[in-house]
Amino acid sequence: MLDLIKARIKHGYQAVPNIRKAVMPENFPGFPLLSEAPDKVWSELEALCPVKAIKEQTLDLGRCSFCGECQRVFPEVIAFSNFHKTSTTEREQLVLKVGNSVEKYYQEAIMEDKTISKVLGRSFRLRSVSAGGCAACEMELNASNNVNFDMGRFGLEMVASPRHADGLIVTGPVSANMAFALKKTWEAIPEPKILILAGSCAISGGIFAEAPGLDRSWLADVNAALYIPGCPIHPLTIINGILKLLGRE
Ligand code: SF4
Repeated sequence: MLDLIKARIKHGYQAVPNIRKAVMPENFPGFPLLSEAPDKVWSELEALCPVKAIKEQTLDLGRCSFCGECQRVFPEVIAFSNFHKTSTTEREQLVLKVGNSVEKYYQEAIMEDKTISKVLGRSFRLRSVSAGGCAACEMELNASNNVNFDMGRFGLEMVASPRHADGLIVTGPVSANMAFALKKTWEAIPEPKILILAGSCAISGGIFAEAPGLDRSWLADVNAALYIPGCPIHPLTIINGILKLLGRE
């Protein structure tokens, strides 16, 4: 027993102490800032982006794979800041334009869902479905529950059964083989419920967007309440996004 107490004292408090004020390392690829450039430069940027996230002088954060190639070639036009609170309630917000700013984006990105926050109070449970994901976003989602990020301290939990869930969080581009299971899982969650799309693949198909093995038709029928961009997503982006949606940021 004494040894256990000693070990506990030695390890100390391991969770990120103030998750709302946490700052990412300088080199973390977070919110990208776009600057003006000649049309020719933007054409080159469009051509070099491997996932076609750059189009008509915009950058779609819901499609970006965060490979960093655009910043490497044209650092004066696209510069990734380390700002990680990039979750949004509107898909269009993820299409970033020239002259964007972190402050404006963060102010407008998430509208609190008053119905959900009122009904679900301080306990919010999610069923996670990996719909053909590569396991990167899934691992980050797992990490959200670990001792470091510990989203359970905010009343946010993953549950095994959709019957016990208040919402569905989807990772992966939605392969045809997972489309039916995803739909059935959603239908099994009682009302009121929300859908969260986590990661570029879930939001847009990501690097698999044009793959023939996808079936994203179900997503056209359901409104997502929250989009969490990233490739992969970061636990702090997940937790902050959900807390802000619940009016608890
Ligand atoms: S970082 Fe994103 S926008 Fe830039 S080239 Fe890579 S995928 Fe395209």
